[in-house]
Amino acid sequence: MYYNKNTVIYLDGQFVKANEASTDLYSQTMHYGYGVFEGIRAYSTADGTSIFKAKEHYERLKNSAELINIPFKYEVQDLIDATYELLEKNNLTDAYVRPLVFCDPNMSLSRPNNVSVMICAWEWGAYLGDKQLRVTVSSYCRPHPRSIKIDAKVCGHYVNSILATTEAKDKGFDEALLLDSDGYLAEGPGANLFFEKDGVLYTPRLGNILPGITRATVLELAEELGMEVKLGLFTPEVLAEADSAFYCGTAAEVIGIASVDEREFPLNWNDSLGKKLQEAYSKLVRKSHKTLSSVYQ
Ligand code: PMP
Repeated sequence: MYYNKNTVIYLDGQFVKANEASTDLYSQTMHYGYGVFEGIRAYSTADGTSIFKAKEHYERLKNSAELINIPFKYEVQDLIDATYELLEKNNLTDAYVRPLVFCDPNMSLSRPNNVSVMICAWEWGAYLGDKQLRVTVSSYCRPHPRSIKIDAKVCGHYVNSILATTEAKDKGFDEALLLDSDGYLAEGPGANLFFEKDGVLYTPRLGNILPGITRATVLELAEELGMEVKLGLFTPEVLAEADSAFYCGTAAEVIGIASVDEREFPLNWNDSLGKKLQEAYSKLVRKSHKTLSSVYQ
C-alpha cells in the first residue's frame, strides 16, 4: 500500500490527506495519458534526508510539460521545498517521491486550460530488487521519436513500458529490454542500459531513449573513475558479445544484468565496471545534496 490514513500529499500548494484528496474523472490525463511525472529518491544522509538530484528531476518535469504543451506554472525551487516538507510531514527519510502534473477536465484534444500538481512519497526498496536480472528482448519497440516526445516523461508513454514488462514477466523473465524502431538497443521499461566489453563501457546515445538522470550520474562517475565510455547506436548482436551489462534508473538504482534471452554475460559481476559504478552510486546518493532554499538563505 502506498498510503495509509495518516499519509499526506501535496496538491496545488496545500498538504492534504491522501485518502481525502480527489480529482476529476473528466481529467484529460485520465482519458488520454496527457500528463507528466517524475520519479525521485530521497536518502537519509549524515545531514538528514537529502533528495538526490532534486533540481534535475524538477527541471525535467518542467521540460517534459513544456515539450508536450502543458503549461507549467510552478517554480522548481518551490516544488523542491514542498517535497522536503512532504517528507517531513510523513516522517519519511529514505523514500521514493512521485510528482505528477495532471490536466483539468477536457474531453477534447486541445491544450489544457489549467493543470494541477500533486506530489506523493512512500518507502520503496530497490525497484528491480538486488539480484542480477534475467532480461529478454521485448517484442515491443520504444515509441518512435517522431510519434511522441521521447525526451519527456509522459504518463501515456508508460503503456509501452507496461506492455514490455508484463510480456517479459509472463515469459518468466525479470525484466524487458526494448529496442528502438530501427532495431538498435534502446532501454529498459524504466531504466537505461549500459554494457561493458574489453574494459570499455557502452551506452545508447540520446535520441531514442529517456535522458535518464541516473544515466547522466553514471557517466559522471565513470569519468571520475577513469573509465572509457562510448556512446552510440548498438545492435543486440553487440550486446550478445558483451562481457557484462547493467540497468540504471532512479527507482532501480544500478543493477546488474545476468543474462539476455538466456545468454549469460561471462564476466563475474563483482569484477565488472558495473559493480564499481554501483558502489560509487550508492555512496554518492547518501552524501548530502540538500537544495532546500532555506539552506542558502
Ligand atoms: N528510461 C525510462 C523509460 C524510464 O522510465 C526511466 C525512469 N525514469 C529511466 C530510463 C531512468 O531515468 P532516471 O535515471 O532519470 O530515473
